[in-house]
Amino acid sequence: MMEFSYETRISVWMNKYHFRFDRNLGQNFLINEAVLDRIVAGAAPSKAEKALEIGPGMGFLTEKLAAAFGSVTAVELDATLCEILTDQFSAADNVRVVHGDALRLDISALASETAAAGFPGPFKIVANLPYYITTPLLFSFLERREHWSEMVIMVQKEVAERVVAAPGSKDCGVLTLMSAFDADPEILFTVPAADFYPRPAVDSAVLRLTKREHPPCFVADKKIFRAVVKAAFGQRRKTLSNALKNSGLFAEKNGAAALLEACGIDGRRRGETLSFAEFAALANAYVSAADGGGTDD
Ligand code: SAM
Repeated sequence: MMEFSYETRISVWMNKYHFRFDRNLGQNFLINEAVLDRIVAGAAPSKAEKALEIGPGMGFLTEKLAAAFGSVTAVELDATLCEILTDQFSAADNVRVVHGDALRLDISALASETAAAGFPGPFKIVANLPYYITTPLLFSFLERREHWSEMVIMVQKEVAERVVAAPGSKDCGVLTLMSAFDADPEILFTVPAADFYPRPAVDSAVLRLTKREHPPCFVADKKIFRAVVKAAFGQRRKTLSNALKNSGLFAEKNGAAALLEACGIDGRRRGETLSFAEFAALANAYVSAADGGGTDD
């Protein structure tokens, strides 16, 4: 149990460090200790493993991660919060505070540094994410699957529902497919706005994405794969042929039709009916055409 409540600690540090909440940085701190404990438990931590936390804020989740994991790397953009965190964890030899933008993170470098410090395995990413960058962050981690084994992340409830959406449902889209390609996603529990300070305008949910050992099929370029999936889901009422044509992916007028034909996929279908293998076939054919194979011209 804590000596002081989270609200008291926030107020003391606000005064001591002249910290002011920045709405633009999604600064809503979790102040319910039971929820913090459930997040950490959701990651099934061990002292042999390392955690990567995005947006540690004042370190309320960080201190619980430090007690449960062998090593914690915490990446925070706000300079004042970094100062608070550095002071707070100055005596903890297993916490490293990194001042920087999680969207520009060199996760390979962090992985090598933590490996050299005795933690060679992949990270478990555990975080109460800044909601304004949830989707690009999630995509960037999904693209670097070799560096993590599991993510336990607090996100906006609507985003969590999109990640776990059933195939064919209205919530099912690019986020659903890209998550399911690399991981088994599940919602662990929901969290009301009242558990944060200051209160956000939305409810939240904790998602766990357990990495699949192998993706369902080979994809040559994850960014192109995502662009093809996005194009197919972006204009749901259109046929696949028209959706791809309007996606901006093709310079040639007949590029989309030629690609579909080369892959043996009927362009009159809706994008949401395609399997992973069909999306991958389109994306891989697009990549080889761009490399000189000539499929889209
Ligand atoms: N982990 C803390 C907690 O649970 O109380 C704070 C979570 S708060 C929702 C999100 C945190 O992410 C804030 O501390 C914010 O400053 C930080 N943040 C915002 N944008 C960021 C970025 N691009 N890179 C790293 N941290 C960021």
